[in-house]
Amino acid sequence: MVIRLKDWLGLRQGFEDLARRGNVFNFVLRLMFLSISLALMLQLLAIPVCRALGLLDMPLGEAFKLGVAMSWLICGFVSAVVGAGVGSQVRSLAVAKARYEHLSRVDGLTGLLNRRAFSEVLDETRGQASLAIIDLDHFKSVNDCHGHGAGDFVIRAVSAVLEELCRAGHVCARLGGEEFGVLLHGGARKERLQVIEAVRNRVASLPLHYDNQSIGVTISAGVAEFEKDRRMESVYAAADRALYRAKAAGRNLVVHEDDVKEWPCRAQAGR
Ligand code: GH3
Ligand code: MG
Ligand code: MG
Repeated sequence: MVIRLKDWLGLRQGFEDLARRGNVFNFVLRLMFLSISLALMLQLLAIPVCRALGLLDMPLGEAFKLGVAMSWLICGFVSAVVGAGVGSQVRSLAVAKARYEHLSRVDGLTGLLNRRAFSEVLDETRGQASLAIIDLDHFKSVNDCHGHGAGDFVIRAVSAVLEELCRAGHVCARLGGEEFGVLLHGGARKERLQVIEAVRNRVASLPLHYDNQSIGVTISAGVAEFEKDRRMESVYAAADRALYRAKAAGRNLVVHEDDVKEWPCRAQAGR
């Protein structure tokens, strides 16, 4: 409470908070309160001194009354005008900063988190969770056969499936191109795997129509587990290896890292 009061009196205010109009208003009120209080205190000191020096030709009581009135009028008015002007400029800056921060974390095509934001989420992941890396199958041929616009349409459609099937708490991102990442929290490992399997199923059965053309698309996914003391890079590499296996095994498949161990390595199998 003491610290809050200190912050309050010191006009301390988080820059981000000033993006909200209510906080700017609150800031201006505090500025007015402090300016008026300071002006009153200075006058309490200055009036007796001025009187002693013969600079004030009126009774002390009258001088104090005038001082109080002037503090409210002049300081209140000046601090309100200055505070409102500065506050609105700072608010514009805070809003712009929040907007650019948002844009720097979101993928423009799908509205999902981008790779950078997803990496930050992975860095902070502790405890049990699954990471799925999803890649569209033969996506180049979608672009080649139906055009780049159709390709973008398909990417958006897959991202919509991810948003629909990944419940709150899971994190979906577009990692770049036709690759997505999903971080699944909570539930049993098997249930998390089922979410990705459901995504694969749904994408495979999507009725996609673009410019009177029907487009069929499938996804492959690799899944790996976050565990205590396991580094994020290790999880990511394992999910990537599992994805590689899904591609090599024919695509339209979800492969868990545990399954990879059972398969012989065929490095030459492309994806
Ligand atoms: P695989 O099944 O092995 O993953 O084959 P693929 O064709 O999906 O993979 P490849 O890496 O050969 O091709 C990916 C293509 O994705 C190439 C690139 O032109 C296209 N692509 C990347 N980003 C975008 C995008 O934002 N929009 C569109 N329309 N195409 C994109
Ligand atoms: Mg692909
Ligand atoms: Mg790819």
